[in-house]
Amino acid sequence: MERVVTGTFSAYDPKVLQEFLEKGFESIGLSLSHCKVLLKPNLVMGKSPQRAVNTHPDVVRAVAAALLDRSCDIYIGDSPGYESTEKALRGSGIMDVVEGMRLKVVPFDRLITKRQQSGVSPYRLFTFGQDPGAYDAIVNLPKLKTHGMMGLTLGVKNTFGFIHSLEKARWHLRAGQDRMLFASILIDIHRLVGPVVTILDGIIGMDREGPSNGRAREIGLIAMSRDAFALDHYVEGALGLATPLPITVKALEHGLIEEYDVCGHSAWSVADFEMPKSVDTDWALPSFVKSILRNLFVRKPRLDPEKCKSCGVCLKVCPTGSLVFFDRRPAFDYRRCIRCYCCQEMCPEGAIRT
Ligand code: SF4
Ligand code: SF4
Repeated sequence: MERVVTGTFSAYDPKVLQEFLEKGFESIGLSLSHCKVLLKPNLVMGKSPQRAVNTHPDVVRAVAAALLDRSCDIYIGDSPGYESTEKALRGSGIMDVVEGMRLKVVPFDRLITKRQQSGVSPYRLFTFGQDPGAYDAIVNLPKLKTHGMMGLTLGVKNTFGFIHSLEKARWHLRAGQDRMLFASILIDIHRLVGPVVTILDGIIGMDREGPSNGRAREIGLIAMSRDAFALDHYVEGALGLATPLPITVKALEHGLIEEYDVCGHSAWSVADFEMPKSVDTDWALPSFVKSILRNLFVRKPRLDPEKCKSCGVCLKVCPTGSLVFFDRRPAFDYRRCIRCYCCQEMCPEGAIRT
């Protein structure tokens, strides 16, 4: 039976976290030693740890310390939204850990085709920026945050970062507003990555309009499991969600969530966690009706001109070309917009709201 191990923490203390990890590894039966490990944090952009946009440096520090004690050779990488991996690591505070512990940085800038033989989405080929097969183990380090399109970003969603940055927009474009299809794609990618363990940083997480510009708030949780589907399922329940989110719905539908037990603070819960105000678009209606209803009811990305610095990042990341500069400010074409909220996620100034 799979296991989710949970711990509650009031602050980031690498020593205390490492003790928890040691016990957790034992509890889930994970024995990593003398191997080549790739750490995959959630690294969206170079924002400070207080903003809760990225995995906290002290979680990375504690995981790296536990693995160094096991004589592992440790690599770290991700594909941030618009900056180089080095720049995002520096701005996030993780570079101090990298330099202090002599981890090796790997940019996810290669073009590696991976085939999913037994996927749940209609797609088989995925282009990765880094080959998970080049490592003995992938350690998945997501951050607990809300996400405009998918509700939350947790363990399974975090491995979308393996997709080459040029390809991410294409996957959004293929899925359009179909959250269930996008969930299936995320599941296929996650299973290709195959992390040996997922360790979720939810000590300070993010609610409201995440994943980049929501409210950073105390949640107090670290959860770990060999099975990210079970971990995501557990966290959704503990946050008090009335119904499962698309990734969990699809995982349940395909029998990917087996029975699991929860070890630790199983009674953990958080009051007043606020989900993003997006509208459920998974209606069982003909597609032309859905398209009309979505344009009417699904929240649109909107610009706060006071905050916009005209950097152009939103134009670069928009998969549909729905944004153009008009009078040095981005303007939206809502007929083309698929409400993926990539522009909101990547705007470094928090100038796009839904
Ligand atoms: S909305 Fe944000 S990303 Fe777009 S141009 Fe303005 S500051 Fe840059
Ligand atoms: S305008 Fe924003 S929400 Fe709309 S498709 Fe482009 S990136 Fe996605």
